[in-house]
Amino acid sequence: MNSDLIRPEIAALPTYNAGMALDRFRAHYGIDCLAKLDSNENSAGPCPGVVEALREEAYGIARYPDAGNGALREELAAATGSAAVRVIIGNGSEDLIGAVFRTVLRPGDQVVTIWPSFGLHEFGALAMGAHVTKVPFNDDWTFPLQGMIGAMADEAPRVLILSSPSNPAGPAISAAEFDALLTATPAGTLVVFDEAYLEYLDTAARFDAMARLAAGHNPWLILRTFSKAYGLAGIRIGHGIGCCPDLVAQMMKTRNPFGVNALAVAAARAAMRDTDHLAHSVKLAADGRARMARSLAEAGYACAPTQTNFVFFDTD
Ligand SMILES: *Cc1c(COP(=O)(O)O)cnc(C)c1O
Repeated sequence: MNSDLIRPEIAALPTYNAGMALDRFRAHYGIDCLAKLDSNENSAGPCPGVVEALREEAYGIARYPDAGNGALREELAAATGSAAVRVIIGNGSEDLIGAVFRTVLRPGDQVVTIWPSFGLHEFGALAMGAHVTKVPFNDDWTFPLQGMIGAMADEAPRVLILSSPSNPAGPAISAAEFDALLTATPAGTLVVFDEAYLEYLDTAARFDAMARLAAGHNPWLILRTFSKAYGLAGIRIGHGIGCCPDLVAQMMKTRNPFGVNALAVAAARAAMRDTDHLAHSVKLAADGRARMARSLAEAGYACAPTQTNFVFFDTD
């Protein structure tokens, strides 16, 4: 192959480590009884209504889906108090991480994120030729507000992206820290706030990030997913809510028109209706993380505080 063929940004990227599927694990280790915890999936599975909706929808799959994802966008807009034109659906929210980077990043741009960070927050930015500044959590796992402010001081980043509650670390940013971060963010910077674990937040740690973003001076995008608390990781569906219809309209141009399939939309709509199953999933995870953190601490391992469905700990 001609060595000039591949874009240098792509050639320099490592292969993304997406973990191993359960059946591959079983084959690899030759054991059936495995607790697969590495992808933060929902052990409660999807709600029964999802399985029913998939069966129904299966009869319609000879037709292309609605490329505009109209019905689901309207339902999500109603559920989140936004407008359908500001909602975007993705083939998983990772699809939207790629879409937003493709929409705004130029080679040489700076992207600021937190460390340890979610791999795709860095990966998609590097693929566009941006450079990524990663600011470590404070030693006590509090949010590195000063570090973030410092990282944005010399050069205004095109994008500030972080997940909260954080993957892979687990802690969540507080409302006061979030406000201070927004105040310190240069006005042109797009704030991408990834709320993949929103549903797992303790009540006391919750705040309305969307209202705070809307009251601030930055363009913004919130990302959410059906992969975690709703138990739909395998079918691939997530969504974003943007500051304005134009951001969403521009992002739509960078996605495959039929990238969100009809079964995924049917599953998401059914999953939204079963709030009991959601509450059950969240309680299962909250009880499990507390038990796991206690056991790890008793065994002498240092754990980061967690507001998610997993525990991050030091294996040394
Ligand atoms: C799991 C996760 C996602 C969700 O990805 P999907 O593509 O929706 O499955 C997004 N962001 C973070 C931080 C995650 O941990």
